[in-house]
Amino acid sequence: QLTLDEATKWINSFVEKIEHNSATLNELDTAIGDGDHGTNMDRGAKAISEALSKKSPENLSELLKTTAFAMIQKVGGASGPLYGTALLDMSKAAKENDDLAALVQVGADGIKRRGQSDVKMKTMIDVWQPVADDLQAGSLSTDQVTAALNSTKDMVATKGRASYLEEKSAGHLDPGSQSSAYLFESLVEVIG
Ligand code: ADP
Ligand code: MG
Ligand code: MG
Repeated sequence: QLTLDEATKWINSFVEKIEHNSATLNELDTAIGDGDHGTNMDRGAKAISEALSKKSPENLSELLKTTAFAMIQKVGGASGPLYGTALLDMSKAAKENDDLAALVQVGADGIKRRGQSDVKMKTMIDVWQPVADDLQAGSLSTDQVTAALNSTKDMVATKGRASYLEEKSAGHLDPGSQSSAYLFESLVEVIG
């Protein structure tokens, strides 16, 4: 179960991590993409803070919805609609169910549907799905998040811009998996 208070801390910590690490995200995306993932996510982070400071959400579903809209409107690129879909689907699901493992699985499924993607394609799914599995199994640690992130390093990308590099995409972390790792490291801080 995830309370509004916990989720608010979660999202605020994510915003902070994105703002502190946008250069790192740009560097990762420069290696196998177009170098803008940090800039994209930083715009989203600022939009989230602004939206949440304007109006405090009254429940978990509203918090997730506000966060989703900020990302859809401001992140752009491939990642904006993907994060946006994940969070919007989670917001809808949160009306009936506040089980954290179930919510993260709903988010992962939303990314798969929107991105026509699945695990092992060197995308953020390679963090979201293992994290959903770990939560379902009853525990999530930063080590597990890091292991999921690191698993993307040797993968060959078959979705997104990095897939244009084919075999040359191997040997680099996936930028969207790094931003998703920040998201779930923030979650561990709150629920850990
Ligand atoms: P763009 O590639 O349009 O510049 P970003 O750089 O913001 O967008 O985001 C790139 C990230 O989006 C990738 O690192 C990857 O994790 C994720 N991504 C791209 N395409 C897909 C997809 N089809 N399914 C899931 N994730 C994807
Ligand atoms: Mg990019
Ligand atoms: Mg781009």
